[in-house]
Amino acid sequence: MILKLRRVFEVPGERKDISFTCDPEKTGYLTDKTFSTPINVSGCVVNHAGVVELSTDCKFAMKHECDRCLIEFEREYDLHFEHTLVLKAYKDDDLVVCENAELDVDELVINDILLSLPTKILCRDDCKGLCPTCGKDLNEGGCEHTQS
Ligand SMILES: [Zn+2]
Ligand SMILES: [Zn+2]
Repeated sequence: MILKLRRVFEVPGERKDISFTCDPEKTGYLTDKTFSTPINVSGCVVNHAGVVELSTDCKFAMKHECDRCLIEFEREYDLHFEHTLVLKAYKDDDLVVCENAELDVDELVINDILLSLPTKILCRDDCKGLCPTCGKDLNEGGCEHTQS
């Protein structure tokens, strides 16, 4: 979804609430991550005395494969993101540039989500993983190689 923010940029105190559903597959931003639900996005863009801030809350679920035991599982997320929006690029990388006062909020949200995921995703914090010798899932019990 493209947000048109001309008025928010021009009028201090102006606020625009946003609430929409983003389907990662339909936006064309393909990733190697599998979203198992659309992303429910709510939030607002506010002009605080000339500084335009965007905040979003993103609710969705994702399918993952555990990095240790390789089991597939689904996890629900509820993430919060904040950005400062500007009309022109500065050197500060944290700022989001809105050309023509427009923002592709689908792209931003998907990038936020992908960057916030840990590089290693485990089905649970204490996942025991697989036996390196026979490949048994050690969460289901030990095998002859792991009994001490
Ligand atoms: Zn696991
Ligand atoms: Zn084993």
